[in-house]
Amino acid sequence: MSSYKIATKCIQSGYKPKNGEPRILPICQSTTFKYDSSEDLAQLFDLTKAGHMYTRISNPTVSAVEEKITDLEGGVGAMCTSSGQAASFISVLNICKAGDNIVALINIYGGTVNLFAVTLKQMGIETRFISSQMSEEEIHSNFDDRTRLVFGETLANPSLDILDFEKFVAIAHSHKVPIIVDNSFATPILCRPFEYGVDIVTHSTSKYMDGHASVVGGVIVDSGNFDWTIDGKYPELTTPDDSYHGLIYTEAFGKAAYITKARTQLMRDLGSTPQPMSAFLLNLGLETLHLRIVRHSENALKVAQFLENQDCIESVNYPGLESSIYHSLAQKYLKDGMSSGVVSFVIKGGRERATKFMDSLELAALVVHVADARTSVLHPASTTHRQLSDKQLEAAGISPGFVRLSVGIEDSDDIINDLSQALKKSSK
Ligand SMILES: *Cc1c(COP(=O)(O)O)cnc(C)c1O
Repeated sequence: MSSYKIATKCIQSGYKPKNGEPRILPICQSTTFKYDSSEDLAQLFDLTKAGHMYTRISNPTVSAVEEKITDLEGGVGAMCTSSGQAASFISVLNICKAGDNIVALINIYGGTVNLFAVTLKQMGIETRFISSQMSEEEIHSNFDDRTRLVFGETLANPSLDILDFEKFVAIAHSHKVPIIVDNSFATPILCRPFEYGVDIVTHSTSKYMDGHASVVGGVIVDSGNFDWTIDGKYPELTTPDDSYHGLIYTEAFGKAAYITKARTQLMRDLGSTPQPMSAFLLNLGLETLHLRIVRHSENALKVAQFLENQDCIESVNYPGLESSIYHSLAQKYLKDGMSSGVVSFVIKGGRERATKFMDSLELAALVVHVADARTSVLHPASTTHRQLSDKQLEAAGISPGFVRLSVGIEDSDDIINDLSQALKKSSK
């Protein structure tokens, strides 16, 4: 890890050109790499020598971005993936097999809930969902000797709940299992979960890390802190891998055992690889992450405060607001209490007025994406949850007037003026 401050890491970490080399990270658009002797190649295949051989497994452009993200999170290694979904999947599959179970917070991203509750279940891996409202006793009762990990989100999408790291890290470690945290919404600028004892971090880099809604991608970062040799619980890391002539990951790679296995075994076999061009674009996004996330947070707080003062708004959910039940956890775990750019609120008048309001917006765009430079808006009742009746929506915890706003980095006056005119128009 470099000793630079986080803003410097955003710009300088990763690619370091040598004498006469390109100043900017080159896009190595090559599937494969040339070696002088078969002995050189053999050593790569045996994992006794580091180097690139085939872009499904590693590529210099992608590696440079992985090094930057490793440095930003403060870990020992990272692996980029073709999407956030692939990152979540591989992060779990790396230490789970049929017959095992995992414990996950219920408020995680809907796509991750589907992955865990449906697809992993079909593979024989059971997910036990818990919530922070449960008593500790109830939470502990979900663990048994086949439980392999705990999974949560720093700043949950879309509920904006903040994970109480102290509590859930202690719970996971008391059962001798690692805790994996999806840090997409907070980014390492606002929160570095490893500093609170989290073992593995994942991201959908499609969100703030890229920040321009231009590339879908994901990443897994390893803290290097979890002891995989604990009680023989993780044999896939501590006993010989037949697909590498009996190599033992913890012995060969020490602190980087988990992330090395994720690449050399699962990325090799599954091939959810990011393209070099995508890594180049992600790197450009990362170079301004420290500036953007502050502006997103400042704008979102102003928008949340504006909305809170409107009579036609029933409730506003944003951890940066003092009225939020997560305000104190935001102050505790997020840098200066900055709570990123997503704000949700309920407009009085239900589905009809919410739809009218959104159709009246001029600056904010209707898209199925959050967390990029442009202000955007999503109405679950008429889009992602459109098949549900008002009654079913309520059961799912989504009020018909519920709107999710992803506040961009435009001038906050223009964003607020747009919301204001649309609220007026929708009242008629
Ligand atoms: C979007 C998202 C994902 C899924 O990422 P993709 O890049 O869309 O595959 C996972 N977790 C969170 C918190 C997200 O917001």
